[in-house]
Amino acid sequence: MDPRPALSIDRLISELNTLAKISSAEPPVVTRIVFSEADLRARTYVKGLCREAGLSVHEDAIGNTFARWAGTETDLAPVGTGSHIDAIPNAGLYDGCVGVLGGLEAIRVLQQLGFKPRRPIELVIFTAEEPTRFGIGCLGSRMMAGVLSPAQALALRDKEGRTLEELRSNAGFKDALESVALSRDRFHQFIELHIEQGPILEQDGIDVALVTHIAAPASMRITIEGEGGHAGARLMPGRKDALAAAAELILKLEAAAKSTGAIDTVGTVGVCEVFPGAVNSIPSRVRLETDIRDIDPVRRDAVIDMMKSACDDVERRRRVSIMTEMVNSDPPAVCDAAILDAMEHAARAAGKTCKRMVSRAYHDSLFMARIAPVAMLFIPCRGGVSHRPDEYASPEWIGSGVHVLARTLAALSS
Ligand SMILES: [Zn+2]
Repeated sequence: MDPRPALSIDRLISELNTLAKISSAEPPVVTRIVFSEADLRARTYVKGLCREAGLSVHEDAIGNTFARWAGTETDLAPVGTGSHIDAIPNAGLYDGCVGVLGGLEAIRVLQQLGFKPRRPIELVIFTAEEPTRFGIGCLGSRMMAGVLSPAQALALRDKEGRTLEELRSNAGFKDALESVALSRDRFHQFIELHIEQGPILEQDGIDVALVTHIAAPASMRITIEGEGGHAGARLMPGRKDALAAAAELILKLEAAAKSTGAIDTVGTVGVCEVFPGAVNSIPSRVRLETDIRDIDPVRRDAVIDMMKSACDDVERRRRVSIMTEMVNSDPPAVCDAAILDAMEHAARAAGKTCKRMVSRAYHDSLFMARIAPVAMLFIPCRGGVSHRPDEYASPEWIGSGVHVLARTLAALSS
């Protein structure tokens, strides 16, 4: 079965462009925050396309959307594919959307070829992959996997203080959140097509990547309490400068991440809040937010332990008080060997070059991996640029991804 005659890359690109114009910002900038007017219009557009393709559409209580192509054996668990359509402020049009509309195109290609899946094939559009509104990424898939409980979800608020409950119910999702979590047999397998968001595929001139591992961030908040005072009157001996203490910890994280000797260990301090933040005042309090990632949870936790003992050490030497708090630490995911083999076989049959790689960004598949065998399929994006309006993936790159996805879905659903 060769998908090429049925694959309409023009149709797919035109749908991606139409979806991109549904934005809270002036095009070509894409901004689509979950449950905003733009998000709801985008959902309506995509659901319409799914219905046109003859898929049956339903939504869960948090707005995760499922569009199903029935199999000849209707009782079998479906092969899933999909991604997200929400977008951070000032984003581009490919992140997530390539996996949703590309997944739909793969289904339409198989339909046009007269393929009859034995298992259902189900397109999934996850709610709020981006953490913009509620400060937590992968809201929809987290809840599907049961990682975020209904009680924890109900406690979420956005920056304006509006509750998740209010926002979802305004958006038309009113069922009990208890119904969102799925059992382990709900999906037979799941594949997410996505842009790489890094430069490797383009640099190496490779069509697609088979993602073997998805790294997961652990996020630790470090709060340092020192002693403030006048920057002139207070002399250097005996100072308890919270920012000087924080500076040691920032450099320590860099050193700790490098010390594992593994290229996949990364550590970042992305937030440093200084109180009171005046030029003539000794910093009395500093809050650091750290992000520590690896594909090996043991190695990642070793870095976290190094940071905790560095905090003890700095606390003692500098006579400040340091509190650490784990904001989250999701386990990394290992992709399923059988799906990876099926994708590799599909890539070969399609005449596409491929390599195996690690995803250093996390995706909904990280959480889907808790309840189903998963794998991801990456396509190149220009310059590795993502989360910016100039994000770009060429029609050929997208076409290769959809081609390999279609062949894989056909194989897995047969
Ligand atoms: Zn994404």
